[in-house]
Amino acid sequence: MAVKLWGMLLLCSLPLRQVRLTSSFGYRIHPVYHRIKLHAGIDLAARHDTVFSILDGVVQTCRYSRTLGLFVRVDHGSTLNSLYGHLSQWLVLPGDTVNAGDPIGVTGATGVVSGEHLHFALTYNNRWLNPWRFLNHIFYGKS
Ligand SMILES: [Zn+2]
Repeated sequence: MAVKLWGMLLLCSLPLRQVRLTSSFGYRIHPVYHRIKLHAGIDLAARHDTVFSILDGVVQTCRYSRTLGLFVRVDHGSTLNSLYGHLSQWLVLPGDTVNAGDPIGVTGATGVVSGEHLHFALTYNNRWLNPWRFLNHIFYGKS
């Protein structure tokens, strides 16, 4: 759908066909490490679901990290980046151009997880944004 962001009209997609929050952004007791850590994104319920790029952009990274598992990072320009973690597979390669709503991966349980879910994070100017607030703002006009 078309949304207004920073005064520009952009096409935007949710990262999953159905979005259900299972863990929010902020400090929490980590479900695996059992100590207080910043959860720099949100967790969304998923079961072998296709993951979509939320905005147009260029795939910057497809990598395996011990904590995030298989992840994809997409550069949307204007210093906005999105990150999708714990995937079971990638559907894109670094350098690929993607449109909002293009499939970029499939959810999984790679990395440090207590069960399958999508970890979705956003950075703007190299700072973490609360992706739940971002999605609510652009899709439902709530702040
Ligand atoms: Zn997470």
